[in-house]
Amino acid sequence: MQKLEIVNKADIDTTLPLISIIGRPNVGKSTLFNRLIGKRRAITDPTPGVTRDPIPETWLLGNNRVTLVDSGGVKLDQEGLDGPVTEKSLSLLSQSDVIIFVMDCMEVTPEDQMLLKELRPYTDKVVLAVNKIDDVTREDLIWNYYNYGYQRVVGISAAHGLGIEELEDTLLGLLDLERQEEEPEEAETIKIAILGKPNTGKSTLTNLLTGRDISIVSSIAGTTRDVMRGTFTYKGTDYTVLDTAGIRRKSKVEEDVEYYSVNRAIKTIDDSDVVLLMIDVTEGLAEQDKKIAQLIVRRGKGVVLVLNKIDALKGIGNELEAIKDRVRFLFPILNFAPLVPISALEGDEIGKLLDTVWAVWRQLNKRIDTNVLNDCIRRWGEEYEPPRGASGHYKILYGTQVSVTPVRFLLFVNRIKDFPESYLSYVKNLMRKELGFSSIPIEISLRERR
Ligand code: GDP
Ligand code: GDP
Repeated sequence: MQKLEIVNKADIDTTLPLISIIGRPNVGKSTLFNRLIGKRRAITDPTPGVTRDPIPETWLLGNNRVTLVDSGGVKLDQEGLDGPVTEKSLSLLSQSDVIIFVMDCMEVTPEDQMLLKELRPYTDKVVLAVNKIDDVTREDLIWNYYNYGYQRVVGISAAHGLGIEELEDTLLGLLDLERQEEEPEEAETIKIAILGKPNTGKSTLTNLLTGRDISIVSSIAGTTRDVMRGTFTYKGTDYTVLDTAGIRRKSKVEEDVEYYSVNRAIKTIDDSDVVLLMIDVTEGLAEQDKKIAQLIVRRGKGVVLVLNKIDALKGIGNELEAIKDRVRFLFPILNFAPLVPISALEGDEIGKLLDTVWAVWRQLNKRIDTNVLNDCIRRWGEEYEPPRGASGHYKILYGTQVSVTPVRFLLFVNRIKDFPESYLSYVKNLMRKELGFSSIPIEISLRERR
């Protein structure tokens, strides 16, 4: 494979971390490059397929010097892949410390698909930047891009400079620069995020919980954005409410504050232990709640469904029960999540809510002894044998819990190909029931052992 000689040029400091921007033509790579570098250097050309040589620049990310390269582009022609151009871009990938993979929020093409495949070996160092999220109407498109399996997805508008701080924060996090000194060992505290659509009572609940005890705890290196947290103590446990800035700044509605709520929600979920998903009982669910729910499950975070404003119910018959049923029906993916009705306004059932958060957090931190787990696996296998496949029996040989928060299990099986999903659901259910993970997402991965 052709080496990218430009990276080794004398004027490029090879000791600096290398960040490359990659994507098919016309997704906005050079616009982003210019936006980040802050100079209009690379040529922006609206004609698809125009490729350029990679142009490395030294860039100040936070307080760190890094090398930023616009890879130029990957293109398909009638023959399929345009060899030399594409190879050049791809060789850059293996050399990069971080890859910004740019996609267009309006359109996913076969070239994108091809790049997704090429990027698979580098998944851990990719930040997926979904570009052209120019306004609120396009914001929801970000969620679709979670299906590509990247941990880091940021919605941006390179042309309008939106989401750029979030992108920079994510890059910093991935490069692990300054992190250690930036974030001192935190005392044990349960980190909660309060999410939900506007007017569900998030601020009211935050204020109730934290009173005036809101502090600006850290400015993320190199950015001007402060992270505000509120803290409080309940029954001897410390709690932190994350990202209260997103909630509080609302009154001054700066254009891009509420606007980038999807980026914010994603970041907040990542930073939290337990998410409180606020639902206004007088209003019902929003489409976005479902997307948030999916992400929570995928990330293995704890979640409590909070039914707020019960004081506003008319008290006719079993109104609350009907609402609960409806939420359960609409959120099958969160069938394990506790449902707690409260009134943030009147302070009703707040103790119950916090007790629930605490219980969920305990489950997230619970470790199952390997012997205990394997006794169970054996017994569950005796009670209900895995179904027989075309080429013989499936069997779980043994397993182990690989992590807490999120709770993950690794099961060794005799054959991984087509291992029956139904059997995994059976095992997962029993894990919830018998091992004490009734209220949290758990993840099972398989490995073959003969
Ligand atoms: P590249 O081929 O990936 O480097 O893409 P360019 O940076 O040359 O941009 C391709 C086209 O997309 C240009 O017409 C840009 O003006 C446009 N573009 C770039 N970023 C954005 C954005 O955030 N929003 C919109 N609407 N257009 C953008
Ligand atoms: P946010 O946009 O999610 O932060 O919602 P707010 O906390 O600003 O609340 C939106 C509106 O709902 C305000 O007028 C609150 O007073 C009202 N509200 C919040 N919690 C309750 C509640 O438990 N009961 C009732 N009746 N109103 C509430």
